[in-house]
Amino acid sequence: MDNCIFCKIIKGEIPSTKVFENENLFAINDINPKAKIHILIIPKEHIESVKHLQDGHKNLIGEMFLAAQKIAKEKNLEGYKLVINVGREGGQLVDHLHLHLLGGDVT
Ligand code: AMP
Ligand code: ZN
Repeated sequence: MDNCIFCKIIKGEIPSTKVFENENLFAINDINPKAKIHILIIPKEHIESVKHLQDGHKNLIGEMFLAAQKIAKEKNLEGYKLVINVGREGGQLVDHLHLHLLGGDVT
C-alpha cells in the first residue's frame, strides 16, 4: 500500500532498525518502546488487521508467532508479552498487521 508506513519501512523507503527478516516477515525495533525490548513482527504482505485475515493466511500467522519465539530466545527473554491491537477501538494506530513482542520490564 502506497501510504502505509510499514510497507515503506519494508521497502527501505523509511529507515528502521531491522532485527529479523525472511521471505514473508520483517521485524523492527519499535520507535517508541513500551518495554526494554519492544519489537514489531510485521508480515511483508499488506494486511490491514486481524479483521482482514483469511484462510490463506494461516501459515503466515503461525510464522509470526514462531518468529516472535525465535527473537525472544535470541534476546534471552525468559518471559514476554505478545500483543496484537485490532482496530482503532483496540488501540491499533498503524493499519498494517503487526505483532508486538514486549520483554525486559513487562508488567
Ligand atoms: P499499534 O498501536 O498496535 O498500531 O502499534 C503501532 C506501533 O508502531 C507503535 O508502537 C509505534 O510506536 C510503532 N511505530 C510507528 N511508526 C514507527 C516507525 N517508523 N518505526 C518503528 N515503529 C514505529
Ligand atoms: Zn502496509
